[in-house]
Amino acid sequence: MEDAKAILKKYFGYDAFREGQEELINSILSGKDTLGIMPTGAGKSICFQVPALMLPGITLVISPLISLMKDQVGALNQAGVHAAYLNSSLTANQYRLALQYAREGRYKIIYVAPERLTTGEFLDFAMASDISMVSIDEAHCVSQWGQDFRPSYLKIIEFVDKMPKRPILSAFTATATKEVKEDIIRILKLISPTALTTGFDRGNLFFSVQSPKDKFEVVLRYIQENKEQSGIIYCLTRKEVEEVCDRLNANGFAVTRYHAGLSDEERRENQDDFIYDRKPIIVATNAFGMGIDKSNVRFVIHYNMPKNIESYYQEAGRAGRDGEPAECILLYGGKDVITNQFFIDNNNENEEMDQQTLEVVKERDRERLKKMTYYCFTRECLRDYILRYFGEYGENYCGNCSNCMTNFEEQDVTAIAKQLIGCVQSSRQRFGMGVIVDTVHGSNTARLRQNRMVENSYHGSLAKETVFFIRQVLNHLILKDYLYLTNEEYAIIKLTEKSEAVFREEEKIIMKLPKKAEETANHKKARSAKVQLEGDIDTALFENLRSLRLEIAREEKVPPYIVFSDKTLNGMCQVMPNNKEEMLSVSGIGNYKFDKYGEQFLEVIQRYKETKK
Ligand code: ADP
Ligand code: ZN
Repeated sequence: MEDAKAILKKYFGYDAFREGQEELINSILSGKDTLGIMPTGAGKSICFQVPALMLPGITLVISPLISLMKDQVGALNQAGVHAAYLNSSLTANQYRLALQYAREGRYKIIYVAPERLTTGEFLDFAMASDISMVSIDEAHCVSQWGQDFRPSYLKIIEFVDKMPKRPILSAFTATATKEVKEDIIRILKLISPTALTTGFDRGNLFFSVQSPKDKFEVVLRYIQENKEQSGIIYCLTRKEVEEVCDRLNANGFAVTRYHAGLSDEERRENQDDFIYDRKPIIVATNAFGMGIDKSNVRFVIHYNMPKNIESYYQEAGRAGRDGEPAECILLYGGKDVITNQFFIDNNNENEEMDQQTLEVVKERDRERLKKMTYYCFTRECLRDYILRYFGEYGENYCGNCSNCMTNFEEQDVTAIAKQLIGCVQSSRQRFGMGVIVDTVHGSNTARLRQNRMVENSYHGSLAKETVFFIRQVLNHLILKDYLYLTNEEYAIIKLTEKSEAVFREEEKIIMKLPKKAEETANHKKARSAKVQLEGDIDTALFENLRSLRLEIAREEKVPPYIVFSDKTLNGMCQVMPNNKEEMLSVSGIGNYKFDKYGEQFLEVIQRYKETKK
């Protein structure tokens, strides 16, 4: 029998497993239940697809989204694996036919929507067939602690319990919290599973945070400088999606949009426009993205700060799935915090929760929001901040984020800290960040007058400083426990045992701040570093290969990246293969794909070489 590595090469064209894949595959092949926790883009699918091809019977893959199934089944068939999906997008006739083929044993891998599992027709098929494994993708959907609880996922175990012979269960998710992990094991009744969490670091992603006055301007400049690149722009509200999308269209860019307010049909169309690169940029709310595995997304811009690091990392992680350099840019604005707070306070959508549970959930959400906000203010390595949030220890310096690329200088902000702490104390610890910042800045708003803060002795004591800078210092104080921000609906700043020492100037507060003049120079450096990383490849050849890919994709009605990923095209440019053997050495080209497309691509490369002679 072929081993796992041979299968990986033959069908998927890859030479080596990524971190964790081999362990998870071996665990499954030894017959054990298996739980894989890997970040978005790490390559979970391979972990159940490779063993599925090696086990004697059929593998059922449970997946929450129709678009995801369609995509994965399409990719499998392209790679020469017989696979099908069973969900509500099929007509009754198509469904019956697919089941009939399944019964005849034509498919090795079948994707099923969870709600189908316990229907009579499907059960009949499953009982009479040899099912080796049930794989549960996006397994956090079984947990109420997860971000995306789906009651239909509870049918999985009902289904497994009905089977005459218990199959191997394997489950995969990108959600790493302890509660979710325990829930998955408990609810799916995994039997002493191998549970493996791989590193959450995604080295090819460049992280940056900016706080621009004009966010749109920043976006516009970015996409002008990165023409032809595919990217996602996330906004918090539908209204903002519309606005940004309209303005980009007005500026002549091929941009589409996605949010829950659009009809199903329009959403599907827009999503396809994006996936097929007809419109390489999509502006969307967080409703967009689950199950999208477009591998050539080169940037993800967050037009607003999202509600927590989990969401941020998942959304940002949709960039650079092909492993090539990609950018994740977060545009912070003070208003984003307020919008998110509003969402949390008004989150009453889950009717099953009683008042008390709801309060606990809200408090947890506020805590998460705080940590997200600190991300926007930290001067430390951004990657490190994220990894620490997920319980990993990074190296303090990654050299591939905006903080690591910026030269900071230390600045003594004790005097400013003293004013802030004094203001909190003199107003008897009754106010939130907004009131305190406005007071020391010397604003004259109705809110301040109402609370008689215009008469406070600290009013205007920091009038010379910008609001942003004052906020920066305040966030630093909270982050370092010199002040404490409560988790209530109206978060209030309180003193801590460390406050007094600062107030008495017994302790200095030192902050790292960017050196003004050098910042822009360094950002430029960061960008050119990125271009270099993309390799000294011949862009003309790359473009030729890209058009051939597009032609094939149109003919076969599949997204271009399913034919070959950008990374694979890149590899062809580097290797410049002359024959089949050399072509197969390029990552992403397996035997099956070579037989299908290899000659066409070889021809383009040969022709190109001749023009160069
Ligand atoms: P996720 O973990 O988010 O489900 P996917 O399974 O979609 O990630 O994989 C992300 C990308 O990485 C895909 O384009 C996939 O083909 C690629 N990939 C997976 N495993 C490997 C590997 N061993 N070598 C190279 N590329 C891989
Ligand atoms: Zn860094």
